[in-house]
Order: sequence, then structure tokens, then C-alpha cells
Amino acid sequence: SGGLLAYADSHSDDNKSIIEQSPKEPQKKKVVVLGTGWAGTSFLKDLDLKSYDVQVVSPRNYFAFTPLLPSVTCGRVEARSIVEPVRNIIKKRSGEIQFWEAECLKIDPANKKVICCSNVEENAARNDKFSLEYDYLVIAVGAQVNTFNTPGVFEHCHFLKEIEDAQRIRRTVIDCFEKAVLPGMTEEERKTNLHFVIVGGGPTGVEFAADLHDFVHEDLVKIYPLVKDLVKITVIQSGDHILNMFDKRISSFAEQKFQRDGIEVLTGCRVIRVSDKLINVKMKSTGEDISIPHGIVVWSTGLGTRPLLRDFMQQIGQGNRRILATDEWLRVEGCEDVYALGDCATIDQRKIMEDISSIFKAADKDDSGFLTIEEFQDVVEDIIIRYPQVELYLKSKHFSEVTDLLKDSEGNDRDAVTIEGFELALSHVDSKMKSLPATAQVAAQQGAYLSRCFNIKEKGKHDPEGPLRFRGPGRHEFRPFRYKHFVQFVALGGEQVAAELPGDRVSMGRSTQWLWYSVYARTAFHTKMD
Ligand code: FAD
Ligand code: MG
Ligand code: MG
Ligand code: MG
Ligand code: MG
Repeated sequence: SGGLLAYADSHSDDNKSIIEQSPKEPQKKKVVVLGTGWAGTSFLKDLDLKSYDVQVVSPRNYFAFTPLLPSVTCGRVEARSIVEPVRNIIKKRSGEIQFWEAECLKIDPANKKVICCSNVEENAARNDKFSLEYDYLVIAVGAQVNTFNTPGVFEHCHFLKEIEDAQRIRRTVIDCFEKAVLPGMTEEERKTNLHFVIVGGGPTGVEFAADLHDFVHEDLVKIYPLVKDLVKITVIQSGDHILNMFDKRISSFAEQKFQRDGIEVLTGCRVIRVSDKLINVKMKSTGEDISIPHGIVVWSTGLGTRPLLRDFMQQIGQGNRRILATDEWLRVEGCEDVYALGDCATIDQRKIMEDISSIFKAADKDDSGFLTIEEFQDVVEDIIIRYPQVELYLKSKHFSEVTDLLKDSEGNDRDAVTIEGFELALSHVDSKMKSLPATAQVAAQQGAYLSRCFNIKEKGKHDPEGPLRFRGPGRHEFRPFRYKHFVQFVALGGEQVAAELPGDRVSMGRSTQWLWYSVYARTAFHTKMD
């Protein structure tokens, strides 16, 4: 299948970094990694330190195991048990990685350097800035919360992104109880203090609500028995269902569990303002505005792009995008030698229809203007590697349904495929494209993938044929990144867990936290790609 993969790159010429290799480069290439979250640490885990000089920049000198962060809010899990110091991670590697506890303030792709600052918050006037040069830059800075410019959210809501957030939420929840039992409070005032509102019915919001419910009903009611009947937990969701990114069975399982637990779920409802004591929402169906008294609001919806990347996107011509785009090799579009992975970026998946005529030309080896059925089948096998949507499409269809499209108007089998037939056969494939979720699993797999590409790259062409290598002599050395979905859990409280498994399977029911934890840790770090 020679040369088939070359067509896809006719649109871009920025592949040189991967293609051109200097065989006897005496100096190690300088790699700068921004961020020590799921993506960054997973990239560092297996990177070949004999080939690279690595510097890591992050304002936090630890990695946080975010799936258990909601459980920290309720003291079920200790904060220190879900963090791992970066220096420990680095120590485990033989070879040197330098770590700088600092925030990257600016990326300067024209001069291939980044500008960092070690005390952004403490004293901006002091000169603690330094710059680092790179040959390759790996951006893994994650996302920040998105308030959608809703007034009052920054001032009056809690977020749940960092360890400190979880600890602050825990203190505030207990404070709410302390306030509610003070003498001289009216019953209304006590109820207001004990109304816990969560905005966002995604996995994080749902898990927090479930943990909070358990915390309140297992622990706090014993300490504050006077007010135990005044507690209320409400989840506000703009869509029609909570957990609507999961299988319907999971979302209704969760809704039923919440109903039994007395957790109120307000769906079809948009937050328009938050103040010290009130949260105002608009019901989408009726247009009605309601104002709800609260003790605490936890804002757990929306991902936004960090200012650092906004500025970078302006510089490289991605200024009108919402989120930084890479190609399927995780290379930032429009910027040489810069890679981005995890929550801070999205893969701009190439549409097959944009390349359809060059694909056809490459497959039609004798330039006859037709493909034989065998040539057609060959080319489909090849394009599956380049365009993951083809595989999703074939999974949803039977292969014969695709070849059925190759029948002529009388229903007779064609013995050859014209460009029109080829286009028709593949015309629905692109509708199967979907962007990857912002999860630890995706971030960790992308980190592992990228370090493998980096390791192969510097070893040169004599490297044995690895699974990442292409079969044909295309312009790309590596297969594009491919996400493998193993399992995603949502803990619903009371040891109830819902899991979305590969192949449209779901599993719901009782489990234990430690089992969930151990399975999670194994699957999220799973790096096998073939
Ligand atoms: P992050 O892990 O957020 O890491 C970003 C890193 O960049 C951090 O080290 C940060 O300090 C650093 N950084 C930020 N700004 C700068 C800068 N200017 N310069 C240098 N460094 C910088 N996913 C799941 O798959 N399953 C779950 O159960 C799950 N539960 C979650 C629960 C909660 C409460 C949260 C918040 C997230 C959860 N996620 C879960 C999502 C998962 O945590 C993210 O998808 C994942 O962390 C993304 O990894 P990342 O490396 O891209 O970003
Ligand atoms: Mg990271
Ligand atoms: Mg993280
Ligand atoms: Mg992403
Ligand atoms: Mg032919």
C-alpha cells in the first residue's frame, strides 16, 4: 500500500520536525514541558532521557489524582493521599529532569522560548521572571473554569479544580452547619444556610452531590442533630438530564438514586446571577426567573482556555478559536515544534471528504479512473489508520452495507468503483467524528503516546518497526493518536457506582471505593496502543 498516506498531508507542510532528522546531532534536544497534571506527568513517565534535556514548569510541585477530589470535600479521602510530589516522580526516573515551580506567562514561538515567573501572586513587581529556550515545547496546562460571564460567579461560588478548592469547600460546608445552629436564627435562615447548590450535572457535580449527601447523612447529622431535617441539596443542570454525556441507562440510574436520596435535580435551567445569599435561575421551558436562597454554591461546569493560551493562539493565527487545536499527532496547528495535549487542547480531526479525491488517486494505482473492489477494500483498510471516524462508521454499519453502496442503480454489483461511487460510499463517515472528552484517561493516553513518538523520533530510522510506525512510506513516521476507551466511573454515593464500559456496555450497582480506585488507576494509565 505504498504512498497512500502521503495524500493527507498535501494541505500542510509543517511536518518537518518529525521527518527531518539530523543523524549525528551532538547536543540533546531541549524539551520544555508546561504542567504537571495528568497529561504532563504521563508524558514524563517514559520519555527517553538519554535523548532529551527536559525541563518542567508548573506552579504546583505535585500531581493531583483528580478523580478522588470530590471525596476530599467530604473528608472521605485525605488530601495528602491523592497528591504525588513532582520531585518524587522525577526521582523515579534515572536521568535528569529539571523542575521549576513557576507559572509560564508567555510562549514566544518565534524565538522558541517561554517566559516564566516564580511568584505571580505574591509580588508581581518583583523580578522573578526567567526564560527558557526549547527545541520542542509540550503544552499540558489543563483548562480553567468557565463562568460563561455569569455575574457573581467568581465572587460567590466555589470551584472544584484544585486540592485547595476541595479543602475550602469542606470548611465552608461545616461553617454552614455552625451558622445554622446559632441561637436567634429563624427556621428560614437555618434552611438557607443548609441549602447546598451544585451547578453542573456532569460527573464532577454529580459525584460531589453524592459525596456531600453521604457526608451530611452519615456524619454531620450526628454532630448537628437539631437541624438535620432542614438540609437540602440541589443540582442545577442546563440540559434535560444529569450525566447526559453518558449512556441513557446511567443517567436515569443516577436520577433515580438522587430521587430516593432526596437530592433535588433542577433540569432545563440556566443560572443568570449569583449573589451572597441568592442564586437566580431561568427555567428554559417557561422563561420564568426564580431566585433560590443558598448557603453555598459549587460551580462545577464549563472548561475555559487559560489567558496564556489565548495570547499564544493570537500569535499563531488561532485567535478566533475557542480552544487550542492540534492535528492528530498532537502538533499545534500553525506552529512548528510545539505540541499540546490534555484538557488545554483539542484534536482538529481531518475530514475524509476534504481528501477524498487525493485518496482516490493514490488508490487507483494504474490511473484507470476506477478502483477494483480489492483496491477499494485495501484503501479502506489504510484510511482507517488515518481517519478514526472510518472505524466508528464501520462499527455502526456492517461492512456489506458500505459495499452495497457500490451497487449500481439497478442493484447489480459494480466490478469497479468510480470517484462518484467512492464519494457516496464514504459520504457519511465524517458524521461519526466526535471530539474527545476532557478526561484524565484521554490526557494520560495522550502523554504516553507523545513520549513514545518522541522516543522513536530521536532514535532515527534504524529503529525496529514498532506498532507506532506506519506500514507504508508515508510522510508521517507515526500513527496518529488514537484514544482507547476503557471504562469511566461515576460514584453516586452509598457505594453505588455507574460505569461506562467499552462496546456500549454499562454497569451499575454496589462497589467499594478501593476497588473503584484501583481499577481506575490501572485503566487510566493504560498505555497500550495496539
Ligand atoms: P491538569 O491535570 O489540570 O493539569 C494542568 C497542569 O498545568 C497543572 O499541573 C497546573 O498546575 C499546570 N499549569 C496551569 N497553568 C500553568 C502555567 N501557566 N504554566 C505552567 N503550568 C501550568 N477525569 C476522569 O477521567 N475521570 C474522573 O473521574 C475525573 N474526575 C474529575 C474530578 C474533578 C473534581 C476534576 C476537576 C476533574 C476530573 N477529571 C476526571 C478530569 C481530569 O482531571 C482532567 O481531564 C485532567 O486533569 C486533564 O489533565 P491535564 O494534564 O490536561 O490538566
Ligand atoms: Mg498536565
Ligand atoms: Mg491533574
Ligand atoms: Mg483535549
Ligand atoms: Mg484502477
